[in-house]
Amino acid sequence: MNTKDQLDLKINKEWCKGCNICVSFCPTNVLALDHNEKIEIVNIDACTKCGLCELRCPDFAIWLGGKDNE
Ligand code: SF4
Ligand code: SF4
Repeated sequence: MNTKDQLDLKINKEWCKGCNICVSFCPTNVLALDHNEKIEIVNIDACTKCGLCELRCPDFAIWLGGKDNE
């Protein structure tokens, strides 16, 4: 099992439809949309790995994964 320290925030811009849900739900403003309205990590240091973005994304475009594997 992964501990939080072993998790990385991962994104797949191709799956992102720019709905902004994860940006709104992230409690620490880690996320933003880029100029193409695709998800972007702008402040990874603030990420608490709470997993809300993964839970809320309708398109599985953002998730917490292991550092060594997906
Ligand atoms: S895991 Fe939590 S803190 Fe990190 S980007 Fe997602 S919602 Fe924000
Ligand atoms: S919730 Fe998912 S589809 Fe919506 S902006 Fe975030 S990553 Fe993109």
